Amino acid sequence: MSEIPSVIIGCRECERENKEMRFAHGVIPFPTTTAYKKNELFKLEQDYTCPFCQDILEITPKIIKMCRTLIDGYSHIVAHPKATEITSPDTNCFIPHDRLYPSLEAFFKEHGSFVKGIDGKLFKNPKEDLKLIHDAMNDFDTEKWLLVIECAGNPEAYLSDSTLWFNLFEDDL
Ligand SMILES: [Zn+2]
Repeated sequence: MSEIPSVIIGCRECERENKEMRFAHGVIPFPTTTAYKKNELFKLEQDYTCPFCQDILEITPKIIKMCRTLIDGYSHIVAHPKATEITSPDTNCFIPHDRLYPSLEAFFKEHGSFVKGIDGKLFKNPKEDLKLIHDAMNDFDTEKWLLVIECAGNPEAYLSDSTLWFNLFEDDL
């Protein structure tokens, strides 16, 4: 398992190719992501180069700020191509990159649900944290790059079909 808290970065194209190869040939997948533990976040201040296609993700100050702040938060943060997934032990939601909401309550209300008090359960500083996410997610190509913040406050690892197998390798790297 990757260690929590940590920030995980990867290139979606190489990950996709890797998965296809695995399914087609049954070969052991290679890791296409890199995990940074909390005390390694300074390494993110250099740009990230995909070790396979050599494409470069420019790690901007907004991205660093989001990672440094939310790694100590209550929720895992996952960059999907068009939305951010926010996961706490009992809540999971997706907010689109193209809108800045004043609160999650406002977001849910717009979608017909009234979820009182949800902001304080998912974020330490809801308004500021939502802005950090919005600013950072619009500062890089989320269609191209995967970014996951596994935070200190949610002890359950973020699991997706992609993270499951790369977690197997992180301890050896
Ligand atoms: Zn790549």
